[in-house]
Amino acid sequence: MTLDTIVEEIQKANSIVLLAHESPDGDAIGSVLAMGIALENMGKKPDRIIKEYPRRFAFLPGADKVKEASDIEKYDLAIALDCSDLRRLDGKEYFENARKTIVIDHHSTNTMYGDINFVNPVAPACCEILIGIFTYFELEINHDLGTCILTGIITDTGGFKYQGVTPETFEFTAELLRKGINVSEIYEKVLETRTKSNFELMKRILNRMEVLEDGKVTFTYMTNQDVKEVNAEPGDHEGLVEIGRGIEGVEVSIFIRQDEDESKYKISMRSNNNVNVSKICYLFGGGGHPRAAGCLIQGTLEQVKDKILSEVKKAL
Ligand code: 5GP
Ligand code: MN
Repeated sequence: MTLDTIVEEIQKANSIVLLAHESPDGDAIGSVLAMGIALENMGKKPDRIIKEYPRRFAFLPGADKVKEASDIEKYDLAIALDCSDLRRLDGKEYFENARKTIVIDHHSTNTMYGDINFVNPVAPACCEILIGIFTYFELEINHDLGTCILTGIITDTGGFKYQGVTPETFEFTAELLRKGINVSEIYEKVLETRTKSNFELMKRILNRMEVLEDGKVTFTYMTNQDVKEVNAEPGDHEGLVEIGRGIEGVEVSIFIRQDEDESKYKISMRSNNNVNVSKICYLFGGGGHPRAAGCLIQGTLEQVKDKILSEVKKAL
C-alpha cells in the first residue's frame, strides 16, 4: 500500500524538503504548510521551500518557516505537492538531488515523476488528499493543520462552488467548525480580499477583455509593463481568469500574462461545461484539470493569442 511506503520513507529520512508548483496558489501553499506541520507532529524537521511566497498567505500557520533556498545536496527525501510535472516544480533541483522522492497531487495530467506517486485526480484539491493521508497517519487535525488544509480547499474549489467538490469537502469543513475554527475568517482572507495591485490589474484586464465566438469565449491579457505600473507582487494575478467565465453564455475564459522571459506567455484557462481546457493546454506542454488549466507558449502576444484561440475554436 502506497501510504505505508510513504510513512516508512518519512520515518527513515533524516532530512526532508517540501516543494510545490511555481507561481504557488492557495492549494500549493496550503499543502506545503500542512505537510510541514504534520511532519513536525511526527517528530521530523522538514524544510519548506517556496521561492516567491505570496504576501496574502503570510497569515497562515508556518508561513514564517518557509525558506527561499537551502543546501541542494542535503535531502534524504523530497515531497512534491500539488504539482503535475517536474518542469513546473518550484525548486526542482532539490527534488532531483534527493535520495528518495514522493509526489502527492490531484492533477489528472500528473506525469508520475516521483519514486512514489500518490495521485488522486478526483480530489478537488491536493489539500483534500492530505486529509485522508493525515487520518491514515493517525494525526489529529488541529487548528493549524485545519487552517492550512481549508485554505487549499477554498482556493481550489473557488469557495466550495466547483463541480469537483465532494461530500467529504463539506464534512471536513463541518468538523473544523465543530472544533471552533473560524471558517468565515479564513474564507474572507484567502478568497474575498484583493490586494490593491490585484484590483488595479482587474481594471486593466476588464478594459481589454474581448468577447469572441458568439459570446462563448473571453480573451484578455496582462504584460510585464502592467506588473511594473501597478507594483504587482507574485500571486497578484490570481483569480482574474475567473471573471470571464462568470459571464452569461461564456464557455471558455482565456487569460494570458507575459512571463519573466518576455518572449513567452503564461496561459490560464477556465471552462464551464463542455470544453476540456486541460486537453488544450496539454497540446502546448501544459496541463491541469478539465475546467481549469494552464501552459506556457513562446511568441508575441498576437501569435500566442492566435495559437490558443485556434485550438479553443476546434473544441467549442
Ligand atoms: P491557473 O490558471 O490557476 O494558473 O492554473 C489552473 C490549473 O492548471 C492549476 O491546477 C494548475 O496547477 C494547472 N496549470 C497551470 N499552468 C500549468 C502548466 O503550465 N502545466 C501544467 N501541467 N499544469 C498547469
Ligand atoms: Mn491544486
